[in-house]
Amino acid sequence: MALAHVPSGNQQLLQQRAILRTLRREMQATRNGWICNKGNPRLCELNVSNLPGGINDPNIETQLHLELILNRLPNSYRKVSYVMYQREYTTIGVFNNRYKPEIALLINSHQPTWTVSNPVLRPARMYFFARSPTDNNNLPGFTNTLIRMNHLVNDGVTRVTDIRLGPNEDTRITLAVSQQNRNRLLNSEGRIVFFNRTALIYDDLGLVCCSRCYSYDHSTDQCTSGNVKCITCGGPHDGECPFQRFPGLRRCASCPSTLAESHHTHSQRCPSLLRHASLLANRVDFQYNWLLIPVCPTLY
Ligand SMILES: [Zn+2]
Ligand SMILES: [Zn+2]
Ligand SMILES: [Zn+2]
Repeated sequence: MALAHVPSGNQQLLQQRAILRTLRREMQATRNGWICNKGNPRLCELNVSNLPGGINDPNIETQLHLELILNRLPNSYRKVSYVMYQREYTTIGVFNNRYKPEIALLINSHQPTWTVSNPVLRPARMYFFARSPTDNNNLPGFTNTLIRMNHLVNDGVTRVTDIRLGPNEDTRITLAVSQQNRNRLLNSEGRIVFFNRTALIYDDLGLVCCSRCYSYDHSTDQCTSGNVKCITCGGPHDGECPFQRFPGLRRCASCPSTLAESHHTHSQRCPSLLRHASLLANRVDFQYNWLLIPVCPTLY
């Protein structure tokens, strides 16, 4: 019989430190409203485009065709977990990688010109907003400044990739980021030092939210929903809400729920937001335990 493993004094110390680190991160996450992404397994997905070469024509009725095809898949309820129709491509969530060849073959037997492929995971990016306009021609110089100011590791991965005008005439600065440097930014409460001030930094997941119907499936300019929804009560009206004066009566416009039992629209614990954020995090070649997402969707 094997003896139980007893850690040496040194190992014990290391284990205690690891536990303390985790506890500290948990408290930090609660304080800052970070969204938990722990235990979300890597998704099995297929991307479908309705033209050769991975090009997608949004005018072709992909949904109509694909629903008919997937209906012919034997035991499809055990193989396909979800289908997300997007402008650039359609994503099919698959319960197990082993079903992918069968689904790809079936689609191509009905639509030989469609492209079915594994999703390409993209590198992780973060972004923040700065008040002052910056010289967007000197990305390498700006990278060096940020690395120096924030005591980041100059690892070649972490670099400023984009500077553009953001909402409220702020400048939106995007950087590719490595795991070690993201951890350093998390250790400083998710804030980045930028010249003589600090700014909250967010994970660039490509999250969108419609400001008409509050769906996380599409942005406002792609909204096809006929009715606007009220951000306060989720009801089909615009203008002033009759429930505005009753703080206990709120209903999330993104979720199917009842008044009073619900959470606020855009709440950091909204199940629709959590689901979409973790789906998007799965498209990134990165290990996220926590997601840093702005409370206000205009900052997505
Ligand atoms: Zn909408
Ligand atoms: Zn209302
Ligand atoms: Zn919700």
